Amino acid sequence: MMTVEVPIPDKKKPPALKFPDRCVHCAKPKHIVLPMKLNMGVQKRNGETVMMDFPCPLCAACEAKERRITYVTLVPFVMAGILTCVLTFIPAWLIAPQGTTLQTRDFDLVFGAFVGMIAGLIGGTLVEFGLKLLFAPAYGRLLLKRPMTVLSLFNDSENVIGLSARFTENKKSLQLTFENDEVAKEFESLNILEKP
Ligand SMILES: [Zn+2]
Repeated sequence: MMTVEVPIPDKKKPPALKFPDRCVHCAKPKHIVLPMKLNMGVQKRNGETVMMDFPCPLCAACEAKERRITYVTLVPFVMAGILTCVLTFIPAWLIAPQGTTLQTRDFDLVFGAFVGMIAGLIGGTLVEFGLKLLFAPAYGRLLLKRPMTVLSLFNDSENVIGLSARFTENKKSLQLTFENDEVAKEFESLNILEKP
């Protein structure tokens, strides 16, 4: 695993990244190019948001793997989450007292739903975490660096099999972590040319 840092001198004009012409994960000939984008957090004069684009080459096998990755992250999170939610909701709903006034009449339902939701998020995340550990040998160690589904809403990174990209503080540069050192070195020589 190797990390390359690309400086971003001008947020309104992020550098166009060049990838080696082969799979970013296994270095086999490329089959498709996956569009990846990160929000620069600034706008152009016409109000359009500036995005940093980095189309990422993948081979057919790794593309298929990337599409299956949701089966060890998002899908188990949702399934385990719903199951935990239901299993917690019922006892919490039965235990909670019903309010005596009109406003608090549904307190037991609200309480049950709230407890169920929290338990669902925790249960789903635990299952997702366990599956990530289990599948890291097959999908690469970068799988463990992907944000958990529960946090992915607040996430400021892009992840694909073999590559994880995130901004450093203040978006002064982009850090790209490659699973494959050889591809990382090639990427580095393609992009880090001019030293200031
Ligand atoms: Zn590949």
